[in-house]
Amino acid sequence: MVKGLYFHVPFCSYKCPYCDFVSVVGPQAEHGHYMELLLKELSLYEELEFSLQTLYFGGGTPSLVSPKTYEVFLQELSKLVDLSRVEEITIECNPENYSLEEFRALRELGFNRVSLGVQSLREEGLKALGRRHSLEQALRSVHWAAEAGFERLNVDLIYGYQGQTPKELERELDLLLSLPVSHVSLYMLTPYEDTLFGQLYRKGALSLPDGDTLGDMFELACDKLESAGFVHYEVSNFALPGYECRHNLLYWTHQEFLGLGVSAWSFVKSRRFGNTRSLKLYEEKLKKGTKPVEQEERLEGREKLYDYLFVALRTRSGVPRALLGKAWQELKDFFQEEGDRVRLNRKGMLLLNEVLLRLKKHLRDNLTPDWEAVS
Ligand code: SF4
Repeated sequence: MVKGLYFHVPFCSYKCPYCDFVSVVGPQAEHGHYMELLLKELSLYEELEFSLQTLYFGGGTPSLVSPKTYEVFLQELSKLVDLSRVEEITIECNPENYSLEEFRALRELGFNRVSLGVQSLREEGLKALGRRHSLEQALRSVHWAAEAGFERLNVDLIYGYQGQTPKELERELDLLLSLPVSHVSLYMLTPYEDTLFGQLYRKGALSLPDGDTLGDMFELACDKLESAGFVHYEVSNFALPGYECRHNLLYWTHQEFLGLGVSAWSFVKSRRFGNTRSLKLYEEKLKKGTKPVEQEERLEGREKLYDYLFVALRTRSGVPRALLGKAWQELKDFFQEEGDRVRLNRKGMLLLNEVLLRLKKHLRDNLTPDWEAVS
Protein backbone atom coordinates (compact mmCIF):
# COMPACT_ATOMS: atom_id res chain seq x y z
CA MET A 1 0.00 0.00 0.00
CA VAL A 2 1.56 3.30 -1.11
CA LYS A 3 1.55 5.75 1.80
CA GLY A 4 3.48 8.70 0.39
CA LEU A 5 3.83 10.54 -2.91
CA TYR A 6 7.01 12.43 -3.76
CA PHE A 7 6.92 14.96 -6.63
CA HIS A 8 10.26 16.07 -8.03
CA VAL A 9 10.06 19.64 -9.36
CA PRO A 10 13.37 20.07 -11.19
CA PHE A 11 13.40 23.81 -11.91
CA CYS A 12 15.99 26.14 -10.38
CA SER A 13 16.90 29.77 -11.08
CA TYR A 14 20.60 28.88 -10.98
CA LYS A 15 22.81 25.89 -10.28
CA CYS A 16 24.46 25.81 -6.85
CA PRO A 17 28.10 24.66 -7.07
CA TYR A 18 27.68 21.82 -4.53
CA CYS A 19 24.38 20.41 -5.79
CA ASP A 20 24.09 16.99 -7.42
CA PHE A 21 20.30 16.91 -7.65
CA VAL A 22 18.71 16.89 -11.07
CA SER A 23 17.71 20.47 -11.78
CA VAL A 24 17.24 22.60 -14.88
CA VAL A 25 17.35 26.34 -15.26
CA GLY A 26 14.32 26.84 -17.48
CA PRO A 27 11.58 29.33 -18.31
CA GLN A 28 8.62 29.68 -15.98
CA ALA A 29 6.22 28.87 -18.82
CA GLU A 30 7.27 25.20 -18.58
CA HIS A 31 6.17 24.76 -14.98
CA GLY A 32 2.43 24.24 -15.59
CA HIS A 33 3.16 21.77 -18.37
CA TYR A 34 5.56 19.81 -16.18
CA MET A 35 3.00 19.60 -13.37
CA GLU A 36 0.56 18.10 -15.90
CA LEU A 37 3.18 15.49 -16.76
CA LEU A 38 3.42 14.52 -13.08
CA LEU A 39 -0.32 13.82 -13.07
CA LYS A 40 -0.05 11.90 -16.31
CA GLU A 41 2.70 9.76 -14.78
CA LEU A 42 0.60 9.03 -11.70
CA SER A 43 -2.31 7.96 -13.91
CA LEU A 44 -0.04 5.20 -15.31
CA TYR A 45 0.06 3.50 -11.88
CA GLU A 46 -3.51 2.19 -11.90
CA GLU A 47 -2.36 -1.17 -10.53
CA LEU A 48 -1.23 0.33 -7.21
CA GLU A 49 -3.25 0.73 -4.05
CA PHE A 50 -2.91 4.01 -2.20
CA SER A 51 -3.54 4.91 1.40
CA LEU A 52 -1.88 8.29 1.32
CA GLN A 53 -0.59 9.96 4.46
CA THR A 54 1.97 12.35 3.01
CA LEU A 55 2.73 14.42 -0.09
CA TYR A 56 6.17 15.94 -0.61
CA PHE A 57 7.18 18.47 -3.27
CA GLY A 58 10.97 18.45 -3.52
CA GLY A 59 13.47 19.58 -6.03
CA GLY A 60 14.91 21.46 -7.64
CA THR A 61 13.05 24.46 -6.35
CA PRO A 62 9.32 23.75 -5.99
CA SER A 63 8.82 27.34 -4.79
CA LEU A 64 9.43 28.55 -8.37
CA VAL A 65 5.95 27.18 -9.11
CA SER A 66 3.14 29.56 -8.16
CA PRO A 67 0.53 28.75 -5.50
CA LYS A 68 -2.10 29.11 -8.24
CA THR A 69 -0.46 26.27 -10.20
CA TYR A 70 -0.40 24.13 -7.02
CA GLU A 71 -4.10 24.85 -6.51
CA VAL A 72 -4.95 23.44 -9.95
CA PHE A 73 -2.51 20.57 -9.41
CA LEU A 74 -4.03 19.50 -6.08
CA GLN A 75 -7.55 19.67 -7.53
CA GLU A 76 -6.52 17.39 -10.39
CA LEU A 77 -4.55 15.13 -8.04
CA SER A 78 -7.62 14.60 -5.86
CA LYS A 79 -9.41 13.17 -8.91
CA LEU A 80 -6.75 10.48 -9.22
CA VAL A 81 -6.11 9.51 -5.58
CA ASP A 82 -7.88 9.84 -2.25
CA LEU A 83 -6.29 12.73 -0.33
CA SER A 84 -8.73 12.69 2.60
CA ARG A 85 -6.29 10.97 4.99
CA VAL A 86 -3.22 12.99 4.03
CA GLU A 87 -1.68 14.40 7.22
CA GLU A 88 1.34 16.21 5.88
CA ILE A 89 2.02 18.17 2.69
CA THR A 90 5.56 19.48 2.47
CA ILE A 91 7.02 21.95 0.02
CA GLU A 92 10.71 22.79 -0.29
CA CYS A 93 11.21 26.54 -0.76
CA ASN A 94 14.13 28.81 -1.49
CA PRO A 95 14.15 31.96 0.66
CA GLU A 96 14.01 34.36 -2.29
CA ASN A 97 10.81 33.02 -3.85
CA TYR A 98 7.59 33.35 -1.87
CA SER A 99 6.06 36.45 -0.29
CA LEU A 100 4.04 36.34 2.92
CA GLU A 101 0.85 36.28 0.82
CA GLU A 102 2.12 33.31 -1.18
CA PHE A 103 2.96 31.37 2.00
CA ARG A 104 -0.57 32.14 3.21
CA ALA A 105 -2.02 30.94 -0.08
CA LEU A 106 -0.11 27.64 0.25
CA ARG A 107 -1.35 27.19 3.80
CA GLU A 108 -4.91 27.69 2.62
CA LEU A 109 -4.40 25.04 -0.04
CA GLY A 110 -3.55 22.51 2.70
CA PHE A 111 0.24 22.61 2.67
CA ASN A 112 1.27 22.30 6.32
CA ARG A 113 5.04 21.84 6.21
CA VAL A 114 7.69 24.09 4.67
CA SER A 115 11.33 23.17 4.25
CA LEU A 116 13.43 26.26 3.65
CA GLY A 117 16.75 25.99 1.81
CA VAL A 118 18.51 28.53 4.00
CA GLN A 119 21.84 26.59 3.96
CA SER A 120 23.79 29.18 5.98
CA LEU A 121 22.95 31.88 8.49
CA ARG A 122 26.04 33.97 7.65
CA GLU A 123 26.48 36.23 4.62
CA GLU A 124 30.01 34.82 4.18
CA GLY A 125 28.60 31.29 4.36
CA LEU A 126 26.00 32.01 1.69
CA LYS A 127 28.73 33.40 -0.57
CA ALA A 128 31.03 30.44 0.13
CA LEU A 129 28.19 28.10 -0.89
CA GLY A 130 27.36 30.09 -4.03
CA ARG A 131 23.85 30.90 -2.81
CA ARG A 132 22.25 33.97 -4.34
CA HIS A 133 19.91 34.96 -1.54
CA SER A 134 20.95 37.16 1.35
CA LEU A 135 20.84 36.46 5.06
CA GLU A 136 18.09 39.05 5.36
CA GLN A 137 15.96 37.21 2.78
CA ALA A 138 16.54 33.93 4.63
CA LEU A 139 15.44 35.37 7.98
CA ARG A 140 12.46 37.15 6.45
CA SER A 141 11.31 34.01 4.73
CA VAL A 142 11.45 31.97 7.99
CA HIS A 143 9.34 34.63 9.72
CA TRP A 144 6.88 34.85 6.83
CA ALA A 145 6.38 31.08 6.71
CA ALA A 146 5.80 31.05 10.49
CA GLU A 147 3.45 34.02 10.28
CA ALA A 148 1.47 32.26 7.55
CA GLY A 149 0.84 29.40 10.02
CA PHE A 150 3.56 26.87 9.18
CA GLU A 151 4.39 25.36 12.56
CA ARG A 152 6.01 22.45 10.81
CA LEU A 153 8.92 24.52 9.59
CA ASN A 154 12.28 23.07 8.60
CA VAL A 155 15.50 24.89 7.86
CA ASP A 156 18.24 23.18 5.83
CA LEU A 157 21.74 24.06 6.98
CA ILE A 158 25.09 23.04 5.50
CA TYR A 159 28.23 22.90 7.62
CA GLY A 160 31.87 22.42 6.68
CA TYR A 161 32.06 24.97 3.86
CA GLN A 162 35.30 26.73 2.94
CA GLY A 163 36.42 29.11 5.67
CA GLN A 164 33.87 28.00 8.32
CA THR A 165 35.18 27.33 11.82
CA PRO A 166 33.35 25.64 14.72
CA LYS A 167 32.96 29.07 16.35
CA GLU A 168 31.16 30.40 13.29
CA LEU A 169 28.93 27.35 13.13
CA GLU A 170 28.08 27.99 16.77
CA ARG A 171 27.01 31.55 15.94
CA GLU A 172 24.85 30.28 13.07
CA LEU A 173 23.20 27.78 15.40
CA ASP A 174 22.57 30.49 18.02
CA LEU A 175 20.79 32.54 15.37
CA LEU A 176 18.91 29.47 14.17
CA LEU A 177 17.67 28.73 17.67
CA SER A 178 16.23 32.25 17.95
CA LEU A 179 13.95 31.50 14.96
CA PRO A 180 10.49 29.87 15.00
CA VAL A 181 11.66 26.59 13.48
CA SER A 182 10.59 23.13 14.63
CA HIS A 183 12.90 21.02 12.45
CA VAL A 184 16.50 21.28 11.29
CA SER A 185 18.18 19.27 8.52
CA LEU A 186 21.93 19.53 8.93
CA TYR A 187 24.20 18.34 6.15
CA MET A 188 27.95 18.21 5.90
CA LEU A 189 29.17 19.78 2.66
CA THR A 190 30.23 16.99 0.32
CA PRO A 191 32.12 17.87 -2.88
CA TYR A 192 30.27 15.38 -5.11
CA GLU A 193 32.16 14.34 -8.20
CA ASP A 194 29.85 15.81 -10.83
CA THR A 195 29.55 19.22 -9.22
CA LEU A 196 31.61 22.38 -9.60
CA PHE A 197 32.80 22.00 -6.01
CA GLY A 198 33.82 18.41 -6.80
CA GLN A 199 36.00 19.61 -9.69
CA LEU A 200 37.53 22.43 -7.64
CA TYR A 201 38.19 20.09 -4.73
CA ARG A 202 39.99 17.58 -6.93
CA LYS A 203 42.17 20.38 -8.35
CA GLY A 204 42.98 21.58 -4.84
CA ALA A 205 41.19 24.87 -5.47
CA LEU A 206 38.62 24.34 -2.70
CA SER A 207 39.84 23.83 0.80
CA LEU A 208 37.40 22.33 3.28
CA PRO A 209 37.75 21.74 7.05
CA ASP A 210 39.63 18.53 7.93
CA GLY A 211 37.98 15.42 9.34
CA ASP A 212 38.66 16.29 13.00
CA THR A 213 37.18 19.77 12.60
CA LEU A 214 34.13 18.33 10.86
CA GLY A 215 33.74 15.86 13.73
CA ASP A 216 33.91 18.73 16.23
CA MET A 217 31.33 20.66 14.25
CA PHE A 218 28.94 17.72 14.18
CA GLU A 219 29.33 17.17 17.95
CA LEU A 220 28.80 20.86 18.59
CA ALA A 221 25.66 21.00 16.45
CA CYS A 222 24.21 17.85 18.06
CA ASP A 223 24.91 19.20 21.57
CA LYS A 224 23.41 22.59 20.85
CA LEU A 225 20.29 21.36 19.11
CA GLU A 226 19.66 18.62 21.66
CA SER A 227 20.03 21.01 24.58
CA ALA A 228 17.45 23.24 22.90
CA GLY A 229 14.97 20.32 22.94
CA PHE A 230 15.47 18.99 19.41
CA VAL A 231 15.47 15.22 19.09
CA HIS A 232 18.20 13.83 16.83
CA TYR A 233 15.85 11.37 15.14
CA GLU A 234 17.84 10.66 11.98
CA VAL A 235 21.51 11.08 11.10
CA SER A 236 20.97 14.51 9.50
CA ASN A 237 17.65 15.50 11.06
CA PHE A 238 16.55 17.08 14.32
CA ALA A 239 12.98 17.89 15.34
CA LEU A 240 11.09 19.22 18.31
CA PRO A 241 8.96 16.33 19.67
CA GLY A 242 6.04 15.71 17.33
CA TYR A 243 7.55 17.67 14.43
CA GLU A 244 9.47 14.87 12.71
CA CYS A 245 9.00 14.75 8.95
CA ARG A 246 6.37 12.05 8.47
CA HIS A 247 7.12 11.69 4.80
CA ASN A 248 10.81 10.99 5.30
CA LEU A 249 9.97 8.60 8.12
CA LEU A 250 8.16 6.49 5.52
CA TYR A 251 11.50 6.11 3.69
CA TRP A 252 13.40 5.23 6.81
CA THR A 253 10.85 2.72 8.08
CA HIS A 254 10.72 0.84 4.79
CA GLN A 255 7.15 1.80 3.92
CA GLU A 256 5.94 2.16 0.37
CA PHE A 257 6.14 5.45 -1.46
CA LEU A 258 5.88 6.48 -5.10
CA GLY A 259 8.22 9.09 -6.56
CA LEU A 260 7.02 11.00 -9.60
CA GLY A 261 8.99 13.29 -11.89
CA VAL A 262 12.46 13.39 -13.39
CA SER A 263 14.98 11.33 -11.38
CA ALA A 264 12.43 10.39 -8.69
CA TRP A 265 12.85 7.06 -6.88
CA SER A 266 10.11 4.78 -5.54
CA PHE A 267 9.86 1.84 -3.20
CA VAL A 268 6.84 -0.34 -3.90
CA LYS A 269 6.23 -4.06 -3.38
CA SER A 270 9.88 -4.75 -2.50
CA ARG A 271 11.11 -2.97 -5.65
CA ARG A 272 13.21 0.16 -5.79
CA PHE A 273 12.90 1.91 -9.13
CA GLY A 274 14.10 5.23 -10.46
CA ASN A 275 13.00 7.51 -13.29
CA THR A 276 15.13 8.89 -16.08
CA ARG A 277 17.26 11.92 -15.19
CA SER A 278 16.57 13.57 -18.55
CA LEU A 279 13.65 16.00 -18.72
CA LYS A 280 13.41 15.47 -22.48
CA LEU A 281 13.20 11.68 -22.16
CA TYR A 282 10.77 11.98 -19.28
CA GLU A 283 8.39 13.99 -21.45
CA GLU A 284 8.83 11.74 -24.49
CA LYS A 285 8.06 8.59 -22.51
CA LEU A 286 4.95 10.07 -20.96
CA LYS A 287 3.72 11.30 -24.33
CA LYS A 288 3.90 7.68 -25.48
CA GLY A 289 2.02 6.56 -22.36
CA THR A 290 5.07 4.73 -20.97
CA LYS A 291 6.37 4.93 -17.42
CA PRO A 292 9.69 6.85 -17.40
CA VAL A 293 11.41 4.22 -15.21
CA GLU A 294 15.04 3.61 -16.11
CA GLN A 295 16.49 1.64 -13.21
CA GLU A 296 14.98 -1.07 -11.11
CA GLU A 297 16.08 -3.36 -8.33
CA ARG A 298 13.98 -6.16 -6.93
CA LEU A 299 14.83 -6.73 -3.28
CA GLU A 300 14.71 -10.27 -2.08
CA GLY A 301 16.24 -12.20 0.81
CA ARG A 302 19.66 -10.84 1.67
CA GLU A 303 19.28 -7.73 -0.55
CA LYS A 304 16.09 -6.87 1.28
CA LEU A 305 17.86 -7.18 4.60
CA TYR A 306 20.70 -4.89 3.46
CA ASP A 307 18.23 -2.37 2.16
CA TYR A 308 16.23 -2.37 5.38
CA LEU A 309 19.34 -2.04 7.55
CA PHE A 310 20.72 0.79 5.46
CA VAL A 311 17.65 2.94 5.83
CA ALA A 312 16.59 1.94 9.35
CA LEU A 313 20.08 2.41 10.79
CA ARG A 314 19.83 6.11 9.95
CA THR A 315 17.08 6.50 12.54
CA ARG A 316 16.94 6.91 16.27
CA SER A 317 14.84 3.74 16.62
CA GLY A 318 17.61 1.71 14.99
CA VAL A 319 17.16 -2.02 14.38
CA PRO A 320 16.91 -5.24 16.41
CA ARG A 321 20.46 -6.19 17.42
CA ALA A 322 19.87 -9.75 16.23
CA LEU A 323 19.80 -8.46 12.65
CA LEU A 324 23.45 -7.50 12.79
CA GLY A 325 24.45 -11.08 13.51
CA LYS A 326 28.17 -11.53 14.16
CA ALA A 327 28.88 -8.05 12.74
CA TRP A 328 27.82 -6.71 16.12
CA GLN A 329 31.09 -7.72 17.77
CA GLU A 330 33.19 -5.93 15.15
CA LEU A 331 31.07 -2.80 14.88
CA LYS A 332 29.77 -2.25 18.39
CA ASP A 333 31.94 0.87 18.91
CA PHE A 334 29.71 2.64 16.42
CA PHE A 335 26.46 1.75 18.18
CA GLN A 336 24.57 2.22 21.38
CA GLU A 337 22.18 -0.36 22.79
CA GLU A 338 18.65 0.12 24.00
CA GLY A 339 17.10 -3.15 25.20
CA ASP A 340 17.31 -5.56 22.30
CA ARG A 341 17.70 -2.76 19.74
CA VAL A 342 20.78 -0.89 18.59
CA ARG A 343 21.26 2.47 16.97
CA LEU A 344 24.24 4.41 15.68
CA ASN A 345 26.05 6.62 18.17
CA ARG A 346 27.51 9.94 17.00
CA LYS A 347 30.76 8.32 15.90
CA GLY A 348 28.73 5.83 13.87
CA MET A 349 26.68 8.63 12.31
CA LEU A 350 29.78 10.57 11.34
CA LEU A 351 31.33 7.48 9.77
CA LEU A 352 28.03 6.21 8.40
CA ASN A 353 29.30 5.19 4.96
CA GLU A 354 32.22 3.28 6.42
CA VAL A 355 29.95 1.52 8.94
CA LEU A 356 27.49 0.53 6.23
CA LEU A 357 30.24 -0.80 3.96
CA ARG A 358 31.76 -2.85 6.75
CA LEU A 359 28.36 -4.11 7.76
CA LYS A 360 27.55 -5.11 4.21
CA LYS A 361 30.81 -7.01 3.85
CA HIS A 362 30.32 -8.72 7.17
CA LEU A 363 26.78 -9.75 6.40
CA ARG A 364 27.79 -11.00 2.96
CA ASP A 365 30.35 -13.29 4.53
CA ASN A 366 28.45 -14.31 7.65
CA LEU A 367 24.71 -13.94 7.12
CA THR A 368 23.25 -15.80 10.06
CA PRO A 369 20.28 -13.92 11.51
CA ASP A 370 16.86 -15.30 10.86
CA TRP A 371 15.58 -12.34 8.90
CA GLU A 372 11.96 -13.44 8.72
CA ALA A 373 11.83 -14.02 12.49
CA VAL A 374 13.07 -10.62 13.53
CA SER A 375 11.66 -8.42 10.77
S1 SF4 B 1 20.77 23.28 -4.10
FE1 SF4 B 1 18.61 23.56 -4.48
S2 SF4 B 1 18.47 25.57 -5.46
FE2 SF4 B 1 20.61 24.95 -5.62
S3 SF4 B 1 20.72 23.94 -7.63
FE3 SF4 B 1 20.35 22.35 -6.11
S4 SF4 B 1 18.16 22.05 -6.09
FE4 SF4 B 1 18.58 24.04 -7.10
